[in-house]
Amino acid sequence: TVNCLDQHVEKSPNRVALIWERDEPGTAVHVTYRELLDLTCRLANTLKKYGIQKGDRVAIYMSVSPLSVAAMLACARIGAVHTVVFAGFSAESLAGRIIDSGCKAVITYNQGVRGGRTIELKATVDEAVKNCPSIRYVFVAQRTDNKVQMGDRDIPLEEEMTKADSICTPESMDSEDMLFMLYTSGSTGKPKGIVHTQAGYLLYAALTHKYVFDYQQGDVFGCVADIGWITGHSYVVYGPLCNGATSVLFESTPVYPDPGRYWEMVQRLKINQFYGAPTAIRLLLNYGEEWVKKYDRSTLKVLGSVGEPINKEAWQWFYQVVGEGRCALVDTWWQTETGGICIAPKPSEEKAEIIPAMAMRPFFGIVPVLMDENLHNPQSLPYTPSYGMVCPTPEPKTGTLAAADQPSVFAAGYYFTGDGAYRTQKGYYQITGRMDDIINISGHRLGTAEIEDAMADHPEVPETAVVGYPHKIKGEGAFAFIVLKEQTAHTDHIKEELKTIVASKIAKYAVPDHILVVKRLPKTRSGKIMRRLLRKVVTEQSSNMGDVTTLDDPSVVKEILDAYQKYKEKSSS
Ligand code: AMP
Repeated sequence: TVNCLDQHVEKSPNRVALIWERDEPGTAVHVTYRELLDLTCRLANTLKKYGIQKGDRVAIYMSVSPLSVAAMLACARIGAVHTVVFAGFSAESLAGRIIDSGCKAVITYNQGVRGGRTIELKATVDEAVKNCPSIRYVFVAQRTDNKVQMGDRDIPLEEEMTKADSICTPESMDSEDMLFMLYTSGSTGKPKGIVHTQAGYLLYAALTHKYVFDYQQGDVFGCVADIGWITGHSYVVYGPLCNGATSVLFESTPVYPDPGRYWEMVQRLKINQFYGAPTAIRLLLNYGEEWVKKYDRSTLKVLGSVGEPINKEAWQWFYQVVGEGRCALVDTWWQTETGGICIAPKPSEEKAEIIPAMAMRPFFGIVPVLMDENLHNPQSLPYTPSYGMVCPTPEPKTGTLAAADQPSVFAAGYYFTGDGAYRTQKGYYQITGRMDDIINISGHRLGTAEIEDAMADHPEVPETAVVGYPHKIKGEGAFAFIVLKEQTAHTDHIKEELKTIVASKIAKYAVPDHILVVKRLPKTRSGKIMRRLLRKVVTEQSSNMGDVTTLDDPSVVKEILDAYQKYKEKSSS
């Protein structure tokens, strides 16, 4: 926090640190560096008063706001480890993360507000902590005027903060001490906790923020990600604040109150860099250019894309319509584990080429290595252009896994990202997508195993297999194949129940778009489900099924294809 707050307060206390673009249009709140330090110290002292110490874990379940940023920084100030849980996750997901990381406290809001609707955050926390014996206190801040039930361990946060001292000496931390944990999906049914430490993480977030976006002092930096994801950590909070920038906190949605929201905000807040997700761009391009052109976007200098592959159509629209063809558009590739952008078109020399929809150039210190599938040969693939998996660097500057029971993504001294990539003759990288069972829905990573595990709770459904399929807006969606215990006339009812289970065990965005009942799943003789074949079915590449000889009974392929064909005919009629 000294790097993110105190150093700037010393030099320019009245510089605006945060502009909170609240859900309610036109009600932005400006917070200076001095005010943010004050908030942070009061919150830090409140945590201390209730016994939170260096090394303790604290869950933050809040929508984006100056107070939630202060909550992150307050933890950092006293050496506690924050784990922010996206406020759209269910009680069960929240509980799982609290238990796994052993949190002592949760910081939350009474309610959240998004797209004009209220979200019951405190009620979800109540539900979650019922099963979390490690939780001693729940700090509750007020986002709305509505009263929520307060129990024995619930502390009204603002009330305590007014009583607290506004000076809090920062805890002295080692460069390798933990700064935060953040859970993300792996290839198992259980999300994995990624740990980022103090010095390396902050330096990398600040450097990439400065160079990839060409940030200059005085710029207003608008990253519309939520703090629940790594993008929010690195490019809403830590990177911009470390550089003394003015960072926008976007609480709303791209279509509330109308599809001009982003660009009206750009005009009103005079945003210089706009960093967002392809899924939102794909959504907005359906509404037409007038929603963009209505507003003055002349302050924009750099546009950024993050979280998933951006298709050429969305790239062109973002570049030509939003950026008027005069702003650099950077497609940034990175992941929760790396903590900051690893491959992006910038920094590069002035007027250097930017190829649409390509991440292109490794950042300083990143040495991507392409490997073939068996990882035995940790050499760069010898030919160019080459294709393989990306392993950024033999000396991982990456986050570590918190849980020892998770399969390691480090192999042969390399950090294995799980993504495929293509390298052009000029040495540019084109990310081609995941090579494992992780799908990416609206820029949010999700293991198909997580959805399968959730659905396994249904007593009538002994077996499921989930695969990703291309979705026009979301990038990818989930397609579930299920096997029923017995034939029943109630399949529609069971499908609805499965959707409810997934929403309540994970989150709404994880609910499969399609659920198809099949008699059995394609399995190898050793009983492994061949999801590769199911993926071919839903991507309609059934003419090229590949090797099916390892299947226990190859006739299952035709069976599933027939079922899929019927399902498609039914849904289109
Ligand atoms: P997360 O850790 O949730 O940020 O997800 C990281 C994953 O998102 C990566 O491993 C990629 O599969 C995908 N991803 C992120 N950024 C990009 C990008 N610019 N192009 C393609 N895929 C991306």
